[in-house]
Amino acid sequence: MPAESEPGELRAALTPTTTAALVKLGLTVQTVAGIGAASRYPDAEYTAAGATLVDDPAIALAAADLVLRVRKPSPADIATLKPGAVHLSFLDPFNEGPLLEAFAAAKASAVSLEMIPRTTLAQKMDALSSQASLAGYAAVVQATARVRSALPMMMTPAGTIMPCRVFVIGAGVAGLQAIATAKRLGARVEAFDTRPVVEEQVKSLGARFVKIDLGDTGQTQGGYAKQLTPEQVAKQQAGMAKVCSQSDIVITTAKVFGRKAPRIVSAEMLAGMKPGSVVVDMALESGGNVEGAVPGEDVTTANGVTILGHTSLECTVATHATQVLAANFTAWITHFWDDESKSLKLNRDDEILQGCLITHDGAIVHPRFAPETS
Ligand code: NAD
Repeated sequence: MPAESEPGELRAALTPTTTAALVKLGLTVQTVAGIGAASRYPDAEYTAAGATLVDDPAIALAAADLVLRVRKPSPADIATLKPGAVHLSFLDPFNEGPLLEAFAAAKASAVSLEMIPRTTLAQKMDALSSQASLAGYAAVVQATARVRSALPMMMTPAGTIMPCRVFVIGAGVAGLQAIATAKRLGARVEAFDTRPVVEEQVKSLGARFVKIDLGDTGQTQGGYAKQLTPEQVAKQQAGMAKVCSQSDIVITTAKVFGRKAPRIVSAEMLAGMKPGSVVVDMALESGGNVEGAVPGEDVTTANGVTILGHTSLECTVATHATQVLAANFTAWITHFWDDESKSLKLNRDDEILQGCLITHDGAIVHPRFAPETS
């Protein structure tokens, strides 16, 4: 495990517990010192689990058969990898063409956590879900801390406090967890998603599903949302403006896999919201749902609406984000581990591997990213 290169990244790829599981499997685990410090896993626990701390990270990286890290590596780190090394991390492959080429040039096998199929078989490795769920929880906690109102209804001798109104736009993994968290805190919750199948799930959490007729929206075979036409986006905005204006907290999670996130909350909609209300844009890393939102910054509009620009909400709960992410890494390794040879065996016929292997043996092999050959 090399150090994470992105500032603000507090998670690690393994915990001491998963380190022990991999050592038991037959792996030799090496890590830079302090890898779990920010997520509250001390070095001593990693070494007690069987890991060794490396003296020279560059030498260890160049010798590794398998590299585990949370975020994408630097081009310099990729150039260090030995041919045949397997690199497992989030990669943002839709936006990182040059990194993919660097992996191919190094003859390394780059595996993207984002591309692991969202199937039952691969559920234990589904890092997008494990992190999105915690991020959805954290979005509500962060918004609650900023909204200056209590969330639940309270009947007191001094009068009745009405519940906060929370509107969640996009009810996938993050959105459903945000809905559940806001409900647990006693808020009155409404939600909207373009995938009609979500209505049932929203209702089962006790929230109201906001109905907006957008015509045919559907979903992809993989269960993802399809991109809306400009006319559908305009209809959606018109349908949501009133709900936003009545809400104290708006949480947006709307994403379209592999594409820029749709711009849903316009400046006009923000201008119609109550002063002191809080908006959390959870799609900022893929372009953002909210006009005027700035990655990494909180912005307050002229009418007093605060837009929180946190780009990695899961890092506010890094201990648990690391716990579940490490379980995802370990499940992937276990799936491809060959007990006899005590090494990884990348079976190219494996459907999970076909989904997430991006480069191999000197080429970009994933059909979505491979250069056109004809
Ligand atoms: P995501 O992060 O890509 O998108 C978040 C949500 O935004 C989605 O629900 C999407 O429908 C919604 N959205 C997109 N455009 C929108 C718009 N204009 N307005 C409002 N909402 C919009 O999605 P995700 O949370 O990663 O989940 C995607 C799908 O994968 C879901 O169907 C989920 O149930 C499925 N999934 C399946 C498994 C499994 O079977 N193992 C695991 C995890 C997720």
